Parts: sequence; C-alpha cells; structure tokens
Amino acid sequence: MGGPVPLRPDLSLLSGYHSPQVDVEVRLNTNESPLPPPEEWLAELRHELGHIDFNRYPDRDVTALRAALGELHGIDPARVFCANGSNEVLQCLLLAYGGAGRRAALFEPTYALHSHIASLTATEVVRAWRGPDHRVDLETVDRLLEESQPVVTFLCSPNNPTGRAEPPEVVAHVLERAPGLVVVDEAYGQFAPWSALDLLRHGTPGADRLVVVRTFSKTWSMAACRLGYMAAHPDVVAACEAVVLPYHLDAVTQAAGRLALRHVDAMEARVAAITEERGRIAAALGELPVESWPSDANFILFRPADRAATDVWQDLLDASVLVRDCSSWPGLDNCLRVTVGTPEENDRFLSALGSSLDAARP
Ligand code: PMP
Repeated sequence: MGGPVPLRPDLSLLSGYHSPQVDVEVRLNTNESPLPPPEEWLAELRHELGHIDFNRYPDRDVTALRAALGELHGIDPARVFCANGSNEVLQCLLLAYGGAGRRAALFEPTYALHSHIASLTATEVVRAWRGPDHRVDLETVDRLLEESQPVVTFLCSPNNPTGRAEPPEVVAHVLERAPGLVVVDEAYGQFAPWSALDLLRHGTPGADRLVVVRTFSKTWSMAACRLGYMAAHPDVVAACEAVVLPYHLDAVTQAAGRLALRHVDAMEARVAAITEERGRIAAALGELPVESWPSDANFILFRPADRAATDVWQDLLDASVLVRDCSSWPGLDNCLRVTVGTPEENDRFLSALGSSLDAARP
C-alpha cells in the first residue's frame, strides 16, 4: 500500500487557472480597477463591522444585499443570487445544471473559466470559433446548438479577452435557439453600450432561461472582496441555492457589497475615467506596429506585428509592467492583453511597449 492517491481520471489533464502574480510596479494583467473604492465606503464599512455578530453565521438568504441589487436593477430580489465572485456563481450554475452526460456550449476565444469550470463539474464542453474580428456568427451558433443540444450556452459580453460586447440581436438569437440556459457573463457590463438585463426586465421570449452574471471585482473596485451575482428566473436562483454550501457568503462581504451600492455615482465616474483612458491607449496603439481590436471593456487585446508576443511581454516585465500573455491561448496567436490602468500606469505601459517594438526595427 502507499503512493499517491489517484486523481479523478477526467481531471488528470486539467491544469489550474492562474495569472502570474508577479511583484511589479504596474499591474495590468487581471482587469481589476486601478482605482480604490471611495473613502466614504471604507468609513461606512468600518462602522458596519462594529455591528456584525461575529459569533453567528451570516444571513444565509443574503436578504439585504439581494434587496439592494434588486433595487439597483429594477428586478425582484427573488431573481438575484450572490456568491463569492462571479466564478462561484458560474460554478453553482454548472453544479446545478451541468454534470455527466450534459453539455455546455461556448464560442472561443472567450473567458477560460467557462470551459474550466464546466470540466471541473464533468460537463462536456462543446465549442465553436468566432469569425473575423472575433464576432459570433449566427449560422455557427445554429449549427452548434442544433448538433450538441447544450444545457448551458455561454456568452461573454463584453467578451474577455477580445473586448467587444455582443450585439442585442446576437443574444436574442441565441436565446431563441438555445435549448437550455443562456448565461451572459457581464463581468465588464458597465463599460458596454447595453445590458442583457434589459431582456430580463422586458420579458423577451426565452427570458426565463436567461441568466446575467455580474461581479464586484472590476467596476466596483472590490476584487479583494470576492463578490459576484446573477439575475435570473427564481427557479434558477433556487437551483443555485440548492447546490451552494450553507452560509457561503460571509457577513463582511455581504455588508461590503450592500454599502458599495450607495456609491453608484462614484462607480460610474470611475468607468467614465477608465473609458477615456482606454481611448487614449487605443489611439496610441494605432500609431505602433501592432494589430489591436476595439474594446467595450477595461482592457485591449493587441498583437505585435514584427515581434514575438512572449519577447514583448518579457520586455514589459523588465520595465516592471505586467500584461497578460494570451499568445498560447487558442485562436490568439501572438496576442497580449492590457488592462486599462491609471494615466501614469498607461504612460508606463505605452512607453515600455514603444521601446520594445523599436527594438524590432532594423
Ligand atoms: N467573468 C469574466 C468574463 C471575467 O473576466 C472574470 C474575471 N477575470 C470573471 C468572470 C470572474 O470574476 P470574479 O472575480 O467575480 O470571480
């Protein structure tokens, strides 16, 4: 007897999902907000800490936070489910609806955790490829859905890492054709020109199967808190509640999220500032020997024309600027992704990138 206990066989090929957390001066690799939440929020949270019964389990039903989110979006709190980051929301959806013998459909390249969590929950992943400029093609959608009859179909809008929001007609089309749930991941939703929440609110045909997932990690400047949520039919909320661990969302996180919603204006001001900086970076990239794609989010995907992305990534790192190396991801040959930072951080990035690309010139 002895030796290592064998892993579940279907997991043996799977590696964890990591973005290197390197100690650098300019971190532009994980699409967080470069700006902290407002001081007032911190003061309110400090005050709130004094009122938490730390010896008691937290409110299992997350009542106050769900009510506040319902009010924010104009929906019944019974349609809201909160968890530790939107990743846990996705995991709950797949625990409840995925599993052996079931399929999840997605359109690559897209957010890697959709397929990763599907695999972790033994859900088979079926994928189609995006067309030119990373757009989802409707004929491809029809073929994939018809052939595979997925129980969950993922869209990501704006799509990480390519940047564009899905147009409303694409989401409506997928909703019409998909046999199961349609999960629209709107982690960057506040940067986008529209939200699938509109379809939920207006009761579009198929809206009972629509799930919109959001996070506090990006626009709310609260990645450290691990808070995400979904808006969906109450039956889908009940299904997620049935699979999630009891008391999964701690009292501090619940309070932090509820208090954050008092500061919508400050959040929108941060989104506006980041959007402006995004325009500046996009314009600067247009002057450099790189291909880049338009973004409706807080990051930009680009491809150096004459240099290996891994060399450019290393040059940037040597200048203490960390971006995401996507060059080994399917469909993203030689691509890098930069998160929009503060104006100073963006200057550091652009200057380091300019020097790195200059090095390629004869
Ligand atoms: N969805 C997308 C599209 C993301 O890019 C991310 C973060 N990288 C997440 C979900 C996960 O966010 P959270 O921190 O809420 O788990």
